[in-house]
Amino acid sequence: MRILVTGGAGFLGSNLCTRLINDGHEVVCLDNFFTGRKANIAHLLGNPRFELVRHDVIDPFKFEVDQIYNLACPASPPHYQYNPIKTTKTSVMGAINCLGLAKRVKARVFQASTSEVYGDPQVHPQPEEYWGNVNPIGKRSCYDEGKRCAETLFFDYHRENKVDIRVIRIFNTYGPHMLSNDGRVVSNFIVQALSGEDITIYGDGSQTRSFCYVDDLIEGFVRFMDQTEIVGPMNCGNPGEFTMLQLAEAVLREVGGKSKIVHKPLPADDPKQRKPDISLARRVLKWEPQIPLEEGLRRTIAYFRTQA
Ligand code: NAD
Ligand code: UDP
Repeated sequence: MRILVTGGAGFLGSNLCTRLINDGHEVVCLDNFFTGRKANIAHLLGNPRFELVRHDVIDPFKFEVDQIYNLACPASPPHYQYNPIKTTKTSVMGAINCLGLAKRVKARVFQASTSEVYGDPQVHPQPEEYWGNVNPIGKRSCYDEGKRCAETLFFDYHRENKVDIRVIRIFNTYGPHMLSNDGRVVSNFIVQALSGEDITIYGDGSQTRSFCYVDDLIEGFVRFMDQTEIVGPMNCGNPGEFTMLQLAEAVLREVGGKSKIVHKPLPADDPKQRKPDISLARRVLKWEPQIPLEEGLRRTIAYFRTQA
């Protein structure tokens, strides 16, 4: 198949492009390089089945493709809050442009939605039926509400225009090709531990997240995209739940060194707990994560050691 991956030079996008090329597909990678980099896809550039296009998803684009994976959008809080209006535009206009293209060329289109649509959840763990608890006017809203609106657009194009959609809600994922200055917690802790700097825990560190290793997530993406039983929304993530304090201790155990844990103020609207209910993915895709946190951290630490 010919497959378009928007945001293909980013963390998840580059891992997805590699997987699709290895599966024998032709891949068009579209990216504006806001948080993506050529280094993430350098190993694919000489491949005749791989094409790189510098383009912004808020402007329309045309490609003859069979599938579209829409991943373009900064995902780390410091990056998506850097230009919040652009973040909302990227989610909303990006969705409209992908859906318009999918409608014209009859491609199946995948939306990388997020656990952030659940906001600071009052239901735990979060099943797909939960509507969420999102502040519409806070600092995280440009991302959360942009992604919620994108989901709305996907389902309206599906109902009104019979566009063949797949909507996945991704929970915190980590692994090789994250930027060292990405700002998300796993890369921050690893980079800090490797350079002997203080490990910065925001708040008291009792808030929880569930961390999925990237290879597990990408396997979920491909299985979800290639089945015809459900269109989503479907949660994808690792249900293992850890406090930020436990994560810091796990990173320190793996890296060793002399970093100390320090506490910094908790950002506004920071969700207190998060853990996916993945019963749907288990049932339909026969999918569940295979790589435990310690193993995933070991692989990610090995990657960051090569980035020094
Ligand atoms: P990332 O920041 O590494 O990658 C995003 C990519 O999109 C980058 O290559 C960036 O340059 C590109 N991009 C941003 N704005 C663009 C625009 N206007 N036009 C074209 N390209 C643009 O983030 P990631 O972790 O790889 O996330 C990929 C997708 O998955 C995002 O949509 C994100 O919301 C979603 N997601 C990720 C996670 C996670 O834990 N990694 C969790 C939930 C959802
Ligand atoms: N966090 C932290 N130290 C850091 C970066 C993040 O303690 O250096 C916390 C953050 O406040 C949040 C959790 O780690 O509670 C996950 O943050 P991240 O930005 O990775 O993802 P998100 O909040 O979007 O789930």
